[in-house]
Amino acid sequence: VEFWVDVVVATPVHSGLGQALTYRSEQLLAAGCLVRVPLGQRELLGIVWGEAAAPDAAAQLKTKAIISCLDGIAPLDAVWRAVVEFAARYYQRAIGEVALAALPPQLREMDGVQLARRQKLQALRKAKLQAKTGDGPGAGRQATGGEGGATASGALPDAQSATNTVAASAQQVSVIAQFFGESLPPSSSAPKPALLFGATGSGKTEVYLRCTARVLEQSAQAQVLVMVPEINLTPQLEARFTQRFAPLYGADAVVAMHSGMTPAQRLKSWLAAHTGQARIVLGTRMAVFASMPGLQLIVVDEEHDPSYKSQDGARHSARDLAVLRAKLQSEQALQVAPSPDTAKDRGGTNATVAQPCRVMLGSATPSLETWHACEQGRYQRLDMPQRVGDGALAALRIVDMRLAPKKALFAATLLAAIHERITRGEQSLIFLNRRGYAPVLACGACEWKSNCPHCSAYCVFHKIDRTLRCHHCGTTDRVPRACPECGNIDIAPVGRGTEKLEEQLAQALGIDTLLRPDGSPAVIARMDADTTRLKGSLEQQLAKVHSGDVDILVGTQMIAKGHDFRRITLVAAFNPDSALYSSDFRAPERLFSLLMQAAGRAGRDAALAGAQMWVQTMHPDHPLFAALKAHDYPGFARQQLAERTQAGLPPFSYQALIRAEARSQEAAQAFLLAATEAAAGVAAFEHVTLYPSVPMAIQRVANVERAQMLVESQSRAALQKFLSHWQSVLRATKVQGLIRWAMDVDPLTI
Ligand code: ADP
Ligand code: ZN
Ligand code: ZN
Repeated sequence: VEFWVDVVVATPVHSGLGQALTYRSEQLLAAGCLVRVPLGQRELLGIVWGEAAAPDAAAQLKTKAIISCLDGIAPLDAVWRAVVEFAARYYQRAIGEVALAALPPQLREMDGVQLARRQKLQALRKAKLQAKTGDGPGAGRQATGGEGGATASGALPDAQSATNTVAASAQQVSVIAQFFGESLPPSSSAPKPALLFGATGSGKTEVYLRCTARVLEQSAQAQVLVMVPEINLTPQLEARFTQRFAPLYGADAVVAMHSGMTPAQRLKSWLAAHTGQARIVLGTRMAVFASMPGLQLIVVDEEHDPSYKSQDGARHSARDLAVLRAKLQSEQALQVAPSPDTAKDRGGTNATVAQPCRVMLGSATPSLETWHACEQGRYQRLDMPQRVGDGALAALRIVDMRLAPKKALFAATLLAAIHERITRGEQSLIFLNRRGYAPVLACGACEWKSNCPHCSAYCVFHKIDRTLRCHHCGTTDRVPRACPECGNIDIAPVGRGTEKLEEQLAQALGIDTLLRPDGSPAVIARMDADTTRLKGSLEQQLAKVHSGDVDILVGTQMIAKGHDFRRITLVAAFNPDSALYSSDFRAPERLFSLLMQAAGRAGRDAALAGAQMWVQTMHPDHPLFAALKAHDYPGFARQQLAERTQAGLPPFSYQALIRAEARSQEAAQAFLLAATEAAAGVAAFEHVTLYPSVPMAIQRVANVERAQMLVESQSRAALQKFLSHWQSVLRATKVQGLIRWAMDVDPLTI
């Protein structure tokens, strides 16, 4: 007997192999099975997507056979496949491309034998470990069959209190009750997504921990996914989750998933999540595709953060996919399970009733899309306006730099305030969104500037190793001794990055002469992508700030986000003005949330009064600062949404970008022009607006010219319909010199 199956492999959408490929198989393979298949001269990992219709006799002869099946791995479940399928359709990519990119890289290279060997090794290692430790928590977890009646999902009186180190605040108790109270069956629809709108320091993490505890104790199969925007936020979070849950579910119940891990670690985490051994997965945006058969809760912390939007491949929004995934998971659960009422009627415990999957988005400054969804009643809003222990939010100090002496970098009042912090033994945090020493080197005698030879951008001067580095293509050169154009030796840095800011601030303060209350010398340090490149250096530097070894921390926005530093009472934003009048309509939203986040790093310890957020600006009267001063996010959102309605911008319209990369700018533009012409005959064309193509802000990167074009519609469905039809027309459009093109659906930067 022979069977025919459809298999997806990692082929990009424009290869023309977008759809599943049919293979011959000796056994009937379930959808979701991992297989090795031949493609051309290569052998690839593929995923069985379903049964295929038998090809006709001629085609049968040409149809290749599956090489092997990775039996050791259970098939990827229906919800996982549905999420991948949705992402591929919505973001205009091939299913195989999205599906295979969602698997750990090492898995893609392994065959069944290698995998089996690996799994055996791991099992052995584990058994040894358990024998040594006499194994406590591990044993219970191995039982994947039924579950103990004791863990029934009723309202157990705070069963997790043994591991909850603090008592929940009143507002924490209240939001958790509201979250789980959101109506379930009989309406038998998925619970609404929730927005945890909590001030910085209101204890959102504690809410995530408690919600996780509640979901996990309801069923032995339950799993929880917690996402954070950046890798550098994972260590602290991982520590808190491990501390809370390892005593209950064992040390391997919590796994991480992010791009900073080795391929081997990633495979290990992925397998743990897939088998259900890991109960909690903590990760960055890639984790939204983790295979988690028992998923019952997804938390998206700092949901407004732009890092959730992938900047390559399918360019998906992990936040939006999280919401969708929870919905699909819930629908699946509610479909297969009897409603809790009927289960109770039959006198059974409802422990075996499949639970829906809830999703909680957390932020002090939600994205306007999410906020708008709450206003419309599509999302449930949970408010936590108060800080834990009633700590005050930082008071905003706007410094009018128009009044400062020319060439003054720091307002005298700001220097005095930082000085005061040092003598009190408190910490200050100064951030500037540009790393390196200076954004450009320039010659004083001619027009020479440190242009990158491959990009339309400057190479940034890094003083510490005297290099010029392009932040776009990575080109690194030594600083020339003299101007390459005219020989003048007087070439000087223009502008300022974090490296220079640190130097100048140290100078302005006279840091060498400053002492802490205990008589030890004051310390200034810097933290950005440059200082944290080496493995482990990030953790080390964070630990130094936490332990109080650092009095002043200078850095990029990396330091402004999420960290719970206890002794910071002053935060200063150095020159945020460029975002106030940007051509990007999302710039004010981003600036507001960044400043609010940054301010949130100050005054987290209620015992240290007088927390301040300083902003040095040339536009002190800008309305954004007024809203910031009042800590009034709702007011800011109202004003921004009013502007966006007026202008017909998202969330009141839907957008996609089409980007072209080519050998020349003309070729890139020619493709977009051809695309525009081809659009006229495409379905739903009358419901979309196509804007003229423009060179991208950084027009050339690594010798590739780039251009883009905006497509907009009042209707998401119409835009989707148009894009998918347009896509196939464009695939046939050939332009000389074109390298590649891609669509970006719901782009964040335009
Ligand atoms: P957010 O994420 O909302 O900014 P965190 O979750 O980091 O806030 O909490 C801020 C601080 O308050 C943390 O140090 C946390 O341990 C503490 N905290 C949270 N909840 C409580 C509570 N119920 N009782 C005491 N301290 C709490
Ligand atoms: Zn010169
Ligand atoms: Zn470059």
